[in-house]
Amino acid sequence: MSNDTQPEIIPLVDLKAQYRNIKNEVDAAMLSTAERASFIKGPDHEPFAEEFASFCGGGHTALCGNGTDALYLALYETVGHGDGSEEIITTTHTFIATAEAIVRAGYKPVFVDIDPASYLLDVDQVEKAIGLKTKAIIPVHLYGRMAPMDRLMAVADKHGLTVIEDAAQAHGALYKGKGPGKWGAAACFSFFPGKNLGAYGDGGAVFSEDETLVERIRSFANHGRDTKYLHDRYGVNSRLDGMQASVLRAKLPHLAGWTRQRQNVAALYDELLSGVDGIVCPETDADTNHVYHLYVIRVNDAETRERVLEGLKSEGVMAGIHYPVPLHEQPAFAHMAHAPEDFPVAHAAAQRIISLPLYPEISEAQVRRVAETLKRLVAKVQA
Ligand SMILES: *Cc1c(COP(=O)(O)O)cnc(C)c1O
Repeated sequence: MSNDTQPEIIPLVDLKAQYRNIKNEVDAAMLSTAERASFIKGPDHEPFAEEFASFCGGGHTALCGNGTDALYLALYETVGHGDGSEEIITTTHTFIATAEAIVRAGYKPVFVDIDPASYLLDVDQVEKAIGLKTKAIIPVHLYGRMAPMDRLMAVADKHGLTVIEDAAQAHGALYKGKGPGKWGAAACFSFFPGKNLGAYGDGGAVFSEDETLVERIRSFANHGRDTKYLHDRYGVNSRLDGMQASVLRAKLPHLAGWTRQRQNVAALYDELLSGVDGIVCPETDADTNHVYHLYVIRVNDAETRERVLEGLKSEGVMAGIHYPVPLHEQPAFAHMAHAPEDFPVAHAAAQRIISLPLYPEISEAQVRRVAETLKRLVAKVQA
């Protein structure tokens, strides 16, 4: 059966292409974990923790089960378990995990609106949201671009607040030369397979320059263990398993190169799409080293987006939306009784944004095809 009328599919992310390129290294790592039966922690665990800490610019890493746990563990060991009435401020334009960690740690999430150009939390709004009950702030380095940490830290310091950075999408990102965890008390990473550094399953890490904090998180994440049979306190079970540690350790040396490839893809999209009527490219900012977990453009309105997304899909271009529903509009937070217009910038952005296919292995021809298809569809819908 011939399917040569079907266009080649360009996925949003292509984890199979990555595996093909590093198959030998990853296969050897997984096989050796199986042969040694070192399934929990294991010999790659400590070395990977150290190598990841040096990738983050030097400091300490507590590895854990996933990025959501990393946020919870970091909150628990910095501001402690909340009494249910205390508050933690974060952006409404993020993945729900950021707020889940806040709730699980015993706090009320307080959402703030975003900056319209960067989609990152608006520091002026953060300052306005601070009250007597505020304990901490969680900036999210969304799409791989760091929040304006100098201004945010100035506000946090003025009010004596802890800052935990959600760096789940920002491995290797920099703001004014300093990465996640070099500003706040700790940065939380996810190794979900599709993230810039992804495991072959779930994984996460807390990175900090504070060794004592990281030690406490390690023990809390491992049943409050001090030694094998001695538990100083009770904790939780959130460990990075041996298989994931071995895969991540094999992949880490490639991360800097993959980031450069992502940045090259983003630069090509910028070149092909900037100035096009009806398309707004991601803002570029000389202060940030953006690692482009996602390349997010926006179109003029919700209807255009719907028609463009449909058109892209029918032509084999798999775009996405990150995220279509801001947290203040999520059913899970209906009890907070927010109106969509409470955060008008995030509300409007969520209707208009589109994430384009971007992964290190995408070819120049594929990027050009995505850009051409997008331009043609936007022009057609607007005509
Ligand atoms: C992926 C992600 C998380 C959660 O990470 P998991 O490893 O999936 O638990 C948290 N915050 C943001 C912004 C994310 O993108």
